[in-house]
Amino acid sequence: MALTPVITEENIKKVSEFIGNSQKIVLITHISPDGDAMGAALAMYHYLTALHKDATVIVPNRYAEFLAWMPGSNQIIVFKEMDGKATNILKAADLLFAIDFNAAKRADRMSALFPALNCKKILIDHHRDPEHFCDVIISHPAITSTSELIYRLICRMDGFELITKACAECIYTGMMTDTGAFTFNSNYPEIYQIISELLSKGIDKDDIYNKVYNTYSADRIRLMGFTLSEKMEILPDYHTAIITLSQAELNWYNYQEGDTEGFVNIPLSIKGIVFSVLLKEIDSKEHESLIKLSLRSRGTFPVNEIASEYFNGGGHINAAGGECYTTMEEAVARLKSALPHFKQQLNELSK
Ligand code: 5GP
Ligand code: MN
Repeated sequence: MALTPVITEENIKKVSEFIGNSQKIVLITHISPDGDAMGAALAMYHYLTALHKDATVIVPNRYAEFLAWMPGSNQIIVFKEMDGKATNILKAADLLFAIDFNAAKRADRMSALFPALNCKKILIDHHRDPEHFCDVIISHPAITSTSELIYRLICRMDGFELITKACAECIYTGMMTDTGAFTFNSNYPEIYQIISELLSKGIDKDDIYNKVYNTYSADRIRLMGFTLSEKMEILPDYHTAIITLSQAELNWYNYQEGDTEGFVNIPLSIKGIVFSVLLKEIDSKEHESLIKLSLRSRGTFPVNEIASEYFNGGGHINAAGGECYTTMEEAVARLKSALPHFKQQLNELSK
């Protein structure tokens, strides 16, 4: 059964044409690339490589260790670690794909280079309200992962036969991680048709689950224990949980990139809690104090509104992020000052 088209015919034609006219193609993701950003960029990398293109994935900073097994990840260039080489590759590109982000600044320091790049640019993403910094915008917020969009795009360009097992593994990883292993945003039947087609490529979905979710360090589990027992504040009146973690606390548990991944979701498993926030102090050379926030919710509570209104951020209705250049205490106070405005909504949702 054919999938719903989703992407417009016009955009499919443009992407095919741009790829056809290009040899050096660069794929970039947002800062701190998650499973979906990595999956989508690497899947496209495998597809373009199968087309004998010279493709390179560049990520702003290092990806978490639990994604390091992904096929093709050893070829990825980390901008922060090799900015000279990455800049040269970007300048030499004749086509750029911006993957899994909707605002240029999400590419961190790479965004400063965009205006100087003469190449064609294609955005492929599923966040709302994309900025217009690309020639082609493929933005579908109703699709739950950019990796799924990449699958649809490749198939529409008659590329199904070119999807290798490695490519299929990357697509599956992104679809899985952006839906919490198909536990949210995952009721759309075609998701399972796509999974079935990916399985026909020989992927082992149970093995992928284990590689992503069951490879934690003992330090990470201890940090989680400490966080939940000592650092989680429950605000029953607002059906909200707030977790704070300072850099010193993270260091104590030998923090590695990605170690706090998923912590913010845990309080949502408490009965009556519909809003959960993790505030993490970031070691930053440029700023004296930087707090990064992760916001999650159940139902229709729009955490992206709180992220954009109070924390210069954004995201999806149930998963958003932002930042705050203040002390932890001030960031928590700002968050708490927002809650009374949403009290009725929080009350309704917790029922
Ligand atoms: P996380 O909490 O996992 O870092 O981010 C959850 C989601 O929020 C991401 O998928 C992304 O859509 C969005 N997000 C996170 N941080 C930011 C930010 O600083 N700015 C914007 N616009 N969105 C963010
Ligand atoms: Mn995504």
